[in-house]
Amino acid sequence: MTQQTTTRALMLPLDSIDIDAVVAGTKRLTPQEAYSLYHQASLYDLGRWANAVAERVHGSSTRTYVKDRNINYTNVCTARCTFCAFRRDLKADGSYTLSTEQLHTKIKQLLDVGGTQILLQGGMHPELPIEFYEDMLRDMKSTFPSVHVHGFSPPEFVEFVAIFNIPGFPTPGPLKAHTLDPDIYIEKLTVIMKRLQDAGLDSIPGGGGEIFPPHVRNRIGIGKADANQWLQVMNIAHSLGMKTSATMMFGHIEGVYDRIMHMNLYRQWQDKAHQQNLPGEYVSFIAWPFQRENTPMGNLPDYDPASTDQFPGDILADFIANQEIDPNDKKAHVAAVPDAGKVVRLAGATEYLRTQAIARLFLDNIHSIGSSWVTMGPHIGQLALKYGANDMGSIMMEENVVSAAGTTYALNEQYLCHLIRTAGYTPAERDNSYNILNIYTNDNIDAPDLAVEDWSTQRATTIHYEDGSSSGTCDSIPADQQSQSGDPNTISLDIAD
Ligand code: SF4
Repeated sequence: MTQQTTTRALMLPLDSIDIDAVVAGTKRLTPQEAYSLYHQASLYDLGRWANAVAERVHGSSTRTYVKDRNINYTNVCTARCTFCAFRRDLKADGSYTLSTEQLHTKIKQLLDVGGTQILLQGGMHPELPIEFYEDMLRDMKSTFPSVHVHGFSPPEFVEFVAIFNIPGFPTPGPLKAHTLDPDIYIEKLTVIMKRLQDAGLDSIPGGGGEIFPPHVRNRIGIGKADANQWLQVMNIAHSLGMKTSATMMFGHIEGVYDRIMHMNLYRQWQDKAHQQNLPGEYVSFIAWPFQRENTPMGNLPDYDPASTDQFPGDILADFIANQEIDPNDKKAHVAAVPDAGKVVRLAGATEYLRTQAIARLFLDNIHSIGSSWVTMGPHIGQLALKYGANDMGSIMMEENVVSAAGTTYALNEQYLCHLIRTAGYTPAERDNSYNILNIYTNDNIDAPDLAVEDWSTQRATTIHYEDGSSSGTCDSIPADQQSQSGDPNTISLDIAD
């Protein structure tokens, strides 16, 4: 085997795939079929098919969004993900943990603009005890009973198992959860999740999903939950009745087949949850391209798409899919594909739309597909509604993590509704469970977008950090408020149409 040779045995002829049955929901796409569609179907056809599935599942009249706020309660983190520009060591300059007062101020601001949920995440802080989290959740819920707490992420839970002192269980210390006996690990994890649920945690976002296959994950998610740990956390959440979301960060060192195998794991675990009649499940999937600025992985050279050499990540993924290399044998990876993991292939608009369309066709047991306008910008985000997405996600009152790694777009509610309406749908505000709270038809006088007379003042903004640092204060929208805030705190806003 050399780096230039690959079997491409995965590729099937397009006419062997019964796409009409997939669109009708009577046949499930195999991973190999999804891979073949990704490479051979036209962008137009992928969008057409994915849109037909979205319309079958969600109808053709409304498309949704939610009013929430990302709150990162700390940026202290023991993991060292190579794509992260947000984390800080415990005592490093710029490290922070929000006080109760700061947290409550942020929630109050959200509720004041009619928001309904917070997305609450760290860092994986090595020292905060479980009582800190229980108090934080109880304080929030007693002060703001209506707020939905969509909180933490599987890697945080894995670290909680490592560092929390829970009577009757060992405490191995930071990044050592894997050293516990597997049964004890699961038992301690379940106790922790139940305690936090009892304290007010409502649902769990899919942070840290990235890419599951180990030959990719081991290179990019240093010190973070492996695929099995990640999926186990969500499985326990589902057994406790919590809804969760599934994510994928792509467009870096992975091969296309790795993306499909990543989605395949979600599909398999969701099947299992349904077969077991668990009271919770994955309700949504969202994929976004890697943002490179200020990140270690972003320093890798770019793959030249004009090169006659195949992308190393694709070659390695093919070898592994064809069972020619063990996915956990790093030496074999290096010997077979020396450049794998040493070059990035960033995803542009077409790769993003192709990947999202494949997700809608492949993930037949996940209800909602979200558009990632936050990373792709408002117009590609809007177009994503024709490529399988049914949901525009959050108005993003605050975002700290992706914006530390490059450009993040910010939109207000008016603009978000405008994008949905001008794509041909009726905007509808939803809650975390996808229940509709408000439908803004053309004759609804409360429709946020219909009150706007001058769209030139309502353009999207982008957020990024001027000096490559991140202090964690990235309150982003609306643009006019931001630019007048005088906050010198690392943020600059550029107008981006
Ligand atoms: S991505 Fe999250 S888990 Fe990874 S280093 Fe950054 S803050 Fe920590």
